[in-house]
Amino acid sequence: MSHSRSPRLHGFWLERYAIDGAYVPLPTCPALFPTAVRGLAAAGFAGLNVTIPHKEAAFALCDEVAPLARQAGAVNTLVFADGRILGHNTDGIGFLANLRQCGIDPAAGPVLVLGAGGAARAIAAALLDLGVPVTLCNRTASRAADLAGALPGAQVLDWSERAAALARHALLVNTTSLGMLGQPPLAFDFARAGGGLVVADVVYVPLRTRFLDSAAELGLRTVEGLGMLLHQAVPGFAAWFGVTPVVDEEVRMLLASGIPPFAVAGG
Ligand code: NDP
Repeated sequence: MSHSRSPRLHGFWLERYAIDGAYVPLPTCPALFPTAVRGLAAAGFAGLNVTIPHKEAAFALCDEVAPLARQAGAVNTLVFADGRILGHNTDGIGFLANLRQCGIDPAAGPVLVLGAGGAARAIAAALLDLGVPVTLCNRTASRAADLAGALPGAQVLDWSERAAALARHALLVNTTSLGMLGQPPLAFDFARAGGGLVVADVVYVPLRTRFLDSAAELGLRTVEGLGMLLHQAVPGFAAWFGVTPVVDEEVRMLLASGIPPFAVAGG
């Protein structure tokens, strides 16, 4: 939480829309989390974002969990309304909204998702909800199979088949942590990609991963992870403050400052 970029983002929007509100980072320990949440609701807070390690506890605390959050198996946004706690997961919605803002139709064709962690689950759930065919491909095959079991309609592909499967997909998304600062890059063979393939990364530190650069070098369209981070904040702000904030270049620049733009040696 100490590394969260959310206070800066919401603080900027509060100022932009002249809203007399505040978004503050509040650390708490797991044992006190339920008491803290109920106390904030009682004190008149509009809601919360929840970060690791509190996401499961937050899910359990909700009086109502939105269908997408249930599919995603996690909540990241709590809304306090009429004495009730409503839980949402906005990661998948943020991913879709960012694609659309980039002029890309998420429903253009089947999507190949690399990874089977929390980000993969939220994105796959949102795509399946749109009716888009999703293939899950993870280094640890059993995790992809478990995830597919929780997401009706999702297909599974062996990790060794990922490059060969490209031609059958319209969108490729990296949701693994590879490429993140301090991690090795995600090496990928794009030779069998169709010309229309869009390649997206959810990693946003650095802003531009080697994975995206290798795709772009072959003329493929790429989408960076920062946009998802910005867009996933929109539904929470709208629910708490009653204004749907706009994600534009000024907001992007605000959050991008302080994030390394490119991968450094080894990452
Ligand atoms: P998890 O820890 O839940 O999942 C990590 C995934 O990475 C697993 O599928 C894991 O595979 C895979 N992985 C890790 N190391 C390797 C490797 N060496 N080779 C192949 N696969 C590997 O992480 P999250 O899903 O929570 O987050 C993943 C990334 O998404 C992070 O970089 C995070 O910052 C980013 N993220 C970005 C968001 C945004 O708004 N842009 C929002 C949420 C997350 P395995 O199961 O085999 O271990």
